[in-house]
Parts: sequence; structure tokens; C-alpha cells
Amino acid sequence: MSQKTAFQGLQCTGCHSSYSKGEILQKCRKCGGLLDTIINPEILSEKSKDEIDSTRSMWRFRDFLPVDSEDKIVSAGEGDTPLRKLSSLQGNVWVKDETRNPTGTFKDRGASCAITALTRLGVKNLVLASEGNAGCSFALYSQIAKARCRVFLPRQVNSAKQELSRKMGARVTLVEGTIADAGRSAEAVVKSERSYNASTFVTPYRHDGKGTMALEICEQLGWRTPDWIVYPLGGGVGLVGMWKMFSILEKIGWIKKRPRLVAVQPAGCAPVVTAYNSKREDVDEWKNPETIAFGLKIPKPLAGKWILRSLRESGGIALSVTDEEIRKSMGQALKDEGLLLEPSSAATIAALPHLYGEKMIDRSEEVVVIATGSGLKTLEQL
Ligand SMILES: [Zn+2]
Repeated sequence: MSQKTAFQGLQCTGCHSSYSKGEILQKCRKCGGLLDTIINPEILSEKSKDEIDSTRSMWRFRDFLPVDSEDKIVSAGEGDTPLRKLSSLQGNVWVKDETRNPTGTFKDRGASCAITALTRLGVKNLVLASEGNAGCSFALYSQIAKARCRVFLPRQVNSAKQELSRKMGARVTLVEGTIADAGRSAEAVVKSERSYNASTFVTPYRHDGKGTMALEICEQLGWRTPDWIVYPLGGGVGLVGMWKMFSILEKIGWIKKRPRLVAVQPAGCAPVVTAYNSKREDVDEWKNPETIAFGLKIPKPLAGKWILRSLRESGGIALSVTDEEIRKSMGQALKDEGLLLEPSSAATIAALPHLYGEKMIDRSEEVVVIATGSGLKTLEQL
């Protein structure tokens, strides 16, 4: 492939200020807005699909990621996950099986991408707030990169997620309250210890990693775009990351159209569903969130506006499912398909009867559900 890299720098999604890719960045220094990396489609359009290398990980698509050609990749073989047809459902449904990632969730893609980008900038001291899975992922990749990792988790996080983060070398602090409280604790430590905050969208390097799911899905379907992507929405990193990559693929002519997006949230914490369906520009905080899907228990995603914009651009749908429906889907997915899912992940399967029953999606349309995480860390919830 060409030596020129498509990664050009970073830009604020709010005030559009630009930043050099050599700077260590969190949010916009001018307005506090979220930063996005600039991946130049013109440079990518000089490349051909036939030039994609055979690396068995998401780094097969490194040209689409915020790295330079000489950068050392921090990888544990994440991504390159199976896309498999679900036979027990009546529709035309595929599952992108992210449970096969090194720590059992798609968070590994974001962590591998972010820690690679941060390593090239010399960052060696990371802090983040997590609902559990991202903590495990950042612990793993920090250990590979020989960086320090400190994770703040809400106290109610499953013990397996706490333990796994510790076993992989992270310092774990449990915080009373929600992810928002964990986020405030992480922020306080960042200020006092001068470490780097790798929390969702406080760092601009995670969403492109998750965006590789879009690249792999199109590649696995022979560069055909599915009609719909059904995604369980918490912080929205994967949703905006995939939408960005679908848009790039369309611009460079590798696909003819972009899919429509479906965002699924639990009924006990559905701030994006509420905002989207009432045509709002931003997301209001959800009071007293309550759900068994911990990964989706995000009362006010930082990227609210960005998520809503992506959904709108795609002509998307946002809907909620109950904890009871989620629990039932976990059992069904395991029994009928051999898919061991955690509650956050099973929310997408739980949404399908609504999407078909209420005629939002036709059964002939091609649907890809993202199975974001394995149920191995949440067996007590099965
Ligand atoms: Zn700004």
C-alpha cells in the first residue's frame, strides 16, 4: 500500500478547531467539545480492496486508523470476528460475533486503537472510568504496552470484570454510584497525578478502532452493505465509529450505499431513544437508571449530539427493550444459536421481534446485529 497515511490530524466536532496529530489531546482546548480524528478519504481512495493485507486482526485495516505507517501496533489479535447467519430467526439476520475478542468484548478494538495511538505519543500513564468491559480491555493492552492503568468502576460491576482488570495489572478503584460518579473520580485523579484520561470520548482515539467492525462487515458480505445494523447503545463509541467508516467507504467507492442504524437501549436507561424520538439535538440525563445491562447504563452519553446526528443521517431507528426481554433473549441465543451473550449484547436480539412485529424492518431486508460482548463475565445474570 501507499506510504502516505490518511491520518491527518484531529478536529473538534463542536467549533471545528484543528489540532496536529503529534499533540497529546483529550477534548477540545478551546470549547471543550469532543475531538474526531481526520482520516482523509482522498488518500484512501488511491488504494484498492485487493491491497488489503492478510493480517488476522482489525489491523488489516490500519490505513483507516489514526496511526502512521511506522508506528508499532499494540495488538492481541482483536477484531477479524466471525459474521454468522442466525438460523433460528425468521428474518435475514447475521450476527457480528464480537464475543471472540481477546477479553470477550468489542471494547478490545477501541483499546487496541487508543493505546497504539497513545504509545506513539509517549503516554504511559492511563486512567479511565468504565462500566467494566473497557476496564478489562485497557488493562490488557496497557500491560502489553508496558503502560500503567488505573480503572474506576461503579461498585455494582460484576466481580469477574473487577477481578479480570486486576489480574491484568490494572489498579482498580470501586466508586459508589453510576459511571458518571466513576468519571468524576477518574477526572480528579487525572488532575492530581497528571495522567491521561482514556475514558469514552474524553480520548479521541477509541471510536475509529470500533469503526473497523463496519469495514469487516462489508468485506465479509463481499463489499455489499447490509440494510440495517442493530447496535446496543451505551456510550455510542461503536455507533459513531461505524457510521464514520461506512461514510468513508461510500466516499472512496468501496460500497454503493450506507446502511441504516438501529440503536437499542434498555427501558430503564434510554436517554438516546427519548431524545431521538422527540427530535432533540442533544440528550438529557436519564434520572435513576436501572437495568441488568450494565454496559448500557449510561445516563448521559458525552457524545449525545454526535450519536443523534449519526442516527439521523442514516435514517435510523431508536427503540428500547425491557430487562425481561433481554433476559429471555440471552437464554434463547444460547440455546438456539450457541451464542453466550451478556445482557447489553442480548438487547439487540431482544429488539428484533419489535422491529419485525411493528413493521419497522421487513423480513426480507438484510440485518446485522452486533453481539458486543460475551456472557462469560456475567454468568450470574444468565
Ligand atoms: Zn472546539
